Amino acid sequence: MRIVLLGPPGAGKGTQAANIVDEYNIPHISTGDIFRKNLKENTKLGLKAKEYMDKGLLVPDELVVDLVKDRLLQDDCKQGFMLDGFPRTVFQAEALDAELKKMNIKLDVVLNVDVKQELLMSRLTGRHVCKGCGATYHISNNPPANAGICDSCGGELYQRADDTEETVSKRLQVYNDQTQPLIDYYHKANLLKNIDGEKEIGQVFEDIKEILAGVK
Ligand SMILES: [Zn+2]
Repeated sequence: MRIVLLGPPGAGKGTQAANIVDEYNIPHISTGDIFRKNLKENTKLGLKAKEYMDKGLLVPDELVVDLVKDRLLQDDCKQGFMLDGFPRTVFQAEALDAELKKMNIKLDVVLNVDVKQELLMSRLTGRHVCKGCGATYHISNNPPANAGICDSCGGELYQRADDTEETVSKRLQVYNDQTQPLIDYYHKANLLKNIDGEKEIGQVFEDIKEILAGVK
């Protein structure tokens, strides 16, 4: 099973990603993990990426693609993989297709966890984090027993600067602008499956399993 997982911040993509790799026993491949590993091991690609990062520049698409390709060639990807956070752009998607073609393999499905903008706003802006232990709460979906106080450590809860209405709305805008062309690309390629991410977490996973059962 070769999967690309898409979804905006707040769609619950992380939870579903963990469910998927667990159920299908495939590696969870995220660019963040690849970067960290290559930087830590001082690989040639890692050192190249570091040059850009040290200058505060974005790592160019070509280099990101090389890093992902290098990861996909490892043994644990032979039975499949799930890409998370890559591709981000149509350029990256085309480069991925070209690399997979060389490897004589293809993507099976692109899962897009879909949630309305208003609901994402409420999910993300309602998030409160514990200063002590980092536990997260949600003022309406998952409130602490005592307002403003962490259930597990008694620490003070606060709203991260990232979670204010203005920042969240900007973040979602950036995500949409960047991802819509990618969604169109995979739709045209007949790979896109939309998942209703507004359902309850367990149900969302049931829907994903149903789709994946139809894929292979
Ligand atoms: Zn706490």
